[in-house]
Amino acid sequence: MTIKIAILAGDGIGPETIGQAVKVLEVLRDQHGLGLELEHAPVGGSAYDQAGTPLPESTLALARQADCILLGAVGGPKWDTLERNVRPEKALLQLRAELGLFSNLRPAMLFPQLASASTLRAEVVAGLDLMIVRELTGGIYFGKPRGIRSLDDGQRQGYDTLLYSESEIERIARVGFDIARKRDRRLCSVDKANVLETSVLWREIVSHVGKQYPDVTLSHMYVDNAAMQLVRAPKQFDVIVTDNMFGDILSDAAAMLTGSIGMLPSASLDASGKGMYEPIHGSAPDIAGQDIANPLATILSVAMLLRYTANQAELASLVDRAIARVLDDGLRTADIYTGTGRKVGTREMGEAVVSALKSVS
Ligand code: NAD
Repeated sequence: MTIKIAILAGDGIGPETIGQAVKVLEVLRDQHGLGLELEHAPVGGSAYDQAGTPLPESTLALARQADCILLGAVGGPKWDTLERNVRPEKALLQLRAELGLFSNLRPAMLFPQLASASTLRAEVVAGLDLMIVRELTGGIYFGKPRGIRSLDDGQRQGYDTLLYSESEIERIARVGFDIARKRDRRLCSVDKANVLETSVLWREIVSHVGKQYPDVTLSHMYVDNAAMQLVRAPKQFDVIVTDNMFGDILSDAAAMLTGSIGMLPSASLDASGKGMYEPIHGSAPDIAGQDIANPLATILSVAMLLRYTANQAELASLVDRAIARVLDDGLRTADIYTGTGRKVGTREMGEAVVSALKSVS
């Protein structure tokens, strides 16, 4: 099987980190038998500069036709004053909507070698490996009616609507259970069923879907408790499934447990497993073009792509092991450098992963 990947490098450090990820893919093709077709297209601010839109038709067509997308990052001060509908970030929202990417996978994992980079004690976070599955296209961020209205007493009132249908809950629950099956078979559904009606329905539907996954242990937790548990004892979690807003907040909190956004990948998937893979960090304009950005989040996005779209779990763990080897060897980009080991740039880190890939088995 050949996997076709649309490579959208984007802006800022995007092209630098994507360049290293592409090298990794090429080694997997040349030395590990991965069937691969790569096609590049512009997105974000650089696409706006070329074509007057952050998501040109040709880029969208390629994204539709490819098996998945590997995206660098978009945005930067150069485009901050543009109208909202042509801002670089608009391209991401449009891609998610056009491709029906309703589930967002946000792993928080901490290589033991980097435990000292976390603000939490090393024993609390070393070896952390949890996955947050966030519903991405529904809930309070999209519910209508919404707006700011004037009240009779003259003051204004803001309002939003939180809506979840049974089918929306069921499909994200299935993603959670399916992913738990590929991991430690424990799923924690996070809601606020003691206060919100949508959460009462959420809990009922998730429990119902759970009957079809007897091999996965399902638990439920209120979101306020989940926030506390994430910072108290994060290693208790395997997979968390939750709604759009709770997932937005909890996934950023979980990301910070690991100490560096330069190490964290993400995926947004549709119902068939097609997806967009990208690091969680932005385009980091402050360090762009200096060969100091950490490329590992983007390379770990390649590992996710191999696991969740290409169904190549072995190649995915090969990439994980290559990264572990490089960290064992003491190589650190500036963002994860804590005074020991050797500080390296973007390119040298990418090349080290490539050469580790050639030797790990
Ligand atoms: P950012 O993630 O780009 O940067 C935050 C901080 O982390 C910066 O100090 C940066 O230097 C550092 N950093 C980020 N990635 C790093 C890496 N790989 N290695 C080392 N250090 C890294 O967030 P920001 O500064 O808030 O946003 C910058 C631009 O990126 C904005 O235009 C924003 O809209 C955009 N953005 C894009 C995405 C995306 O493309 N998915 C996500 C977030 C922000």
